[in-house]
Parts: sequence; structure tokens; C-alpha cells
Amino acid sequence: MRILVVEDEIGLAEAIGAVLRKEKYEVDISNDGQSGLENALTDVYDCIILDIMLPKMNGLDVLTYLRVKNIETPILLLTAKSEVDDRIKGLDCGADDYLTKPFSMGELLARIRAMLRRKGIFTDINPKFLDITLDMKRGELICNENSVLLGRKEFQMMELLISNAGKIVTKEMFVKKIWGYDDDSEYNNVEVYISFLRKKLALIHSTVQIKTRRSIGYCLDGAK
Ligand code: CA
Repeated sequence: MRILVVEDEIGLAEAIGAVLRKEKYEVDISNDGQSGLENALTDVYDCIILDIMLPKMNGLDVLTYLRVKNIETPILLLTAKSEVDDRIKGLDCGADDYLTKPFSMGELLARIRAMLRRKGIFTDINPKFLDITLDMKRGELICNENSVLLGRKEFQMMELLISNAGKIVTKEMFVKKIWGYDDDSEYNNVEVYISFLRKKLALIHSTVQIKTRRSIGYCLDGAK
């Protein structure tokens, strides 16, 4: 799960980033509207946290532009108490929710989860597929009484595979969601991490297999 934070108060942006990373989200931070827009246009994010008052381009303009460009990423607006009109304008322009500053990090996380849930984006606390469970808090892959710790990339790849169970996850999708940019040299990494994950599935004696689908990508399946 990859989140973009567009916030010009550096301290706040970093604090939000730290909390989100602790919750196992990948986070990119932009400190002005223009770079926020450029990042958001790549369409790799599952959610965007967007401040309204921003240098270079204001949050409402960023939001409007994204919706015109058919970028439908869920957007949570951050507003100051005095910006009531902007808040209403924001919802009219296609924001999904707003949060008034100051807010608690707990509330921010709850709003993000609610927003993703409404959008039908996978937010199961501990995603499961057949005999495996991904423990989000401990970062472990579990099968019956066996468990193994996953590295950060392995964890994100397994999360993506489980949330797309039954469908092919392309190499491009892994690279975009996890590495965050499109670069041929990254495709080899996907193969390396898939081989690590296969070893770990075997280690915990799971019947789940990661099948290669031609050269397109990978798909979770039970052993036949
Ligand atoms: Ca601001």
C-alpha cells in the first residue's frame, strides 16, 4: 500500500510519514503542490493526503487537476480551522474526506482505513489465502504453527499477491507499487524476491505456491 503525503509543514509531513511507515505503508512526501501533483499523476498511490494551503499550487487546484485527468485515487484533505469554504469546495471537487488540523495520528489512520474500505481497497488487518496468513503487526508469514519473518519488500509483495489472489500480478505492478517507478533494472529484483518468498513458503510448509504466468507475472495458487 503506497501513500502520498503532500504537506509543506516539513515537521508535520515527516511525522505523518513516520506513523504511516510504522503501519507498513510505503510513503512518499511532497512539500509543495506542484511536486505533489507530479507524483500523484504517476497513479501509483492507493491514497493521497493533501494539504490545502500549499506553496506553488494550492491543494484544491491539485485535486481538481487530478480528477480532470481521471486520477481516482482516494484523497483526504488536510484543512485549517478557518478554511470551512475550502473544505466544502474540496468535497465538491472530488475529495473523499477531510481532516481539520490539529488532528491525532490515531484519527488520521482511522480516516485512511475508512476511506480505503469505502473504495473497496484491501485493508484486511491480517490478509489470508488458503493456509497462509500475513501478520501485519509482526511482519510474519504464518502457516498453522509455523511462521517466518518477511523482509520489507517480501512483505509488500506477499500483501499484493494475497490481495490479488486468483489474478495475475504483473512484474510492472510490483515495480510500480513497491519500488514506485518504472525502471527495467528493477524487474530482476522482482524475480529475486519471488524466489525468496517461494523458499519461505516452503519453510513454513504451506501448500500455497507462487505460480509464474508466462512472462507476464505471478499468481498465488494452491498446490495441485
Ligand atoms: Ca500548508
